[in-house]
Amino acid sequence: MRAKKSLGQNFLVDPNIQRKIVDAVEPESADTVVEIGPGHGALTDHLAGRAPRLVAVELDDALAGALEARFADRAGVTVVNRDVLEWKPGDTPAPGRLRVVGNIPYNITSPILFRLLEWRPLPERIILMVQREVADRLTAPAGDRAYGALTVGVRSVATVERLFHVGRGAFRPVPNVDSTVIRLDPRPALEVEEAERLRSLTRAAFGLRRKQLQKILRTATGYGLEAGDAEAVLEEVGLRPQDRPEVLDPDMFLKLA
Ligand code: SAM
Repeated sequence: MRAKKSLGQNFLVDPNIQRKIVDAVEPESADTVVEIGPGHGALTDHLAGRAPRLVAVELDDALAGALEARFADRAGVTVVNRDVLEWKPGDTPAPGRLRVVGNIPYNITSPILFRLLEWRPLPERIILMVQREVADRLTAPAGDRAYGALTVGVRSVATVERLFHVGRGAFRPVPNVDSTVIRLDPRPALEVEEAERLRSLTRAAFGLRRKQLQKILRTATGYGLEAGDAEAVLEEVGLRPQDRPEVLDPDMFLKLA
């Protein structure tokens, strides 16, 4: 298999892991399953037999063409030759409740995560293979070294669970990182304004990670509070002016935002 590094192509060749990922999707209980980056179809083959409707979004023209030919006579399977960061449900008929699955290109993990959480309707479940360190960041408790803007950005709008570890030997070509399969269950969407406020707060907070919250509320874009007001706001949500952002869990970030 020839692989394009620029498209993050490391193909999953271990059939047990393929099956475990598809089992985690429980595709039969979705109206539509969206697969990100189907590649040579390692997951697509298993999904197509189980999902009532499958949309597979692949950027690589040659891979998308081959898949399209392979699934041409399969009712309910649609291959879309597009960038998943530009595609959204509604561009291709994808009715009903969505579940998303992907062994994704690791170089665009964060943009994919945030994009999926902006889709409307929101997916009801997302199963993704990610680099192990990303899974560490997504599941880190407040105060941990791995806890940061990514953790808060994702966990304030979805619950995240680590499902299982996947060693590098399960891929061809063999990557130089280990992987973890995670499950995200998005919560009801935030209002646009609420999401904006949360984003500028987390950006400021983790840009000034070692600073006290009082200082952050005084300097963050869109906040810029006077010292007294900053203290009053913090007190109202049960925080102290000298607390640091890394100790706040995602729910506390939401409350403060
Ligand atoms: N699902 C296959 C598997 O498990 O063997 C392939 C996984 S490979 C890690 C990532 C796949 O995503 C590749 O097929 C790659 O061409 C595709 N891809 C890369 N960037 C993409 C993008 N922006 N939109 C859609 N697909 C993309």
